[in-house]
Amino acid sequence: MIKPAIPANESQRLAALQRYRILDTPREQEYEDLVTIARTICGTACGAVTLIDRERQWFKSMQGLEGEQTPREDAFCAHTILRPQELTVVEDARLDARFSGNPSVVGDPHIRFYAGAPLLSSDGYALGSLCVFDSVPGVLGQRQADALRALSRQVGRMMEMRMLRHELEHHQQEHDWYEARLGEYYLQLEQVNSELSEQTRTDPLTGLSNRRALATALSEAIERAGEVPPAVAIVDIDHFKLVNDIHGHAEGDRVLTEMAGVLRAQFAGRGMAARYGGEEFVILMPDTPLQQAELQCQYLRESVGLLPIGLPVTVSIGLAAHRAGESPQDTLQRADSALYQAKQDGRDRVVVAT
Ligand code: GH3
Ligand code: MG
Ligand code: MG
Repeated sequence: MIKPAIPANESQRLAALQRYRILDTPREQEYEDLVTIARTICGTACGAVTLIDRERQWFKSMQGLEGEQTPREDAFCAHTILRPQELTVVEDARLDARFSGNPSVVGDPHIRFYAGAPLLSSDGYALGSLCVFDSVPGVLGQRQADALRALSRQVGRMMEMRMLRHELEHHQQEHDWYEARLGEYYLQLEQVNSELSEQTRTDPLTGLSNRRALATALSEAIERAGEVPPAVAIVDIDHFKLVNDIHGHAEGDRVLTEMAGVLRAQFAGRGMAARYGGEEFVILMPDTPLQQAELQCQYLRESVGLLPIGLPVTVSIGLAAHRAGESPQDTLQRADSALYQAKQDGRDRVVVAT
């Protein structure tokens, strides 16, 4: 037996084989079909698609025999790849010096006839072969040889398509990965943005303090309070939705800005006015007895009614004084319940929480 030589371009050939990422993949029907056709045309019991790896011959398809691979030095196909442009035909292996001592010739499965067509990579390297073989001697006619060559080109194309499909899938996965990262990045950005705007203490439309600033100020006022506890009032514009519906959102914004002007003018120096939500404002009145706070709220309510903005605008107000031991949220909650009562009672009024 003569061991197969190693091709001169072996390292490039192996690199080409690796690019196809086909070694050790499962059997696939397309390859089986081509082997079946090759066996049928050549009239042999066995056939295979083999690939010659560094030290082994691996079968992408194998019909007529069991097994996944054999040592390279015993492989008929390792001889076939040495002549990439030619078919290798062995009519009787026992009479061929290369194979007469081959374990699969002298022992099972007693190969006698072999014909292999090299499988070429797109850049011309012989990666393996499409072969047919049998345990009886045989010959390969010209038409069968042509068919075997044609089928081996088909196997090569299939390997090419398989590689392209995997590359596409890989690119798609990478694309999906980047898209997911980008999505996460945007989410983070949005979160940072919303945190930043939360951190600012001013309402952009009216320039008043915002809810967050109010919460801090209320806590501080409660902590600092002496004999007189702070009072808070929630001021809500009545039927504000109608203003928007009838006059438009821009006009609604103008009313909110005018309201803010009144609040700022009236409470500058003796309290704090904040925009609490859409058309709700909160006034914090530290050191202000509840009765006096109520008077200020009544005054505010009347001032709003007199606003020269060309629209009849009224407000309802719920007022509460902080009680010892109560949380700031509780005080606001009682003010809110009083506001609700003011709405229930017909709006345009001040209700003091009990
Ligand atoms: P109620 O007397 O019961 O308070 O009735 P309302 O219509 O004032 O109350 P409602 O809560 O039903 O509607 C509040 C409206 O305030 C709805 C929303 O469109 C409007 N609004 C909230 N924020 C803004 C804003 O920044 N600009 C403008 N133009 N409208 C706003
Ligand atoms: Mg409201
Ligand atoms: Mg309202």
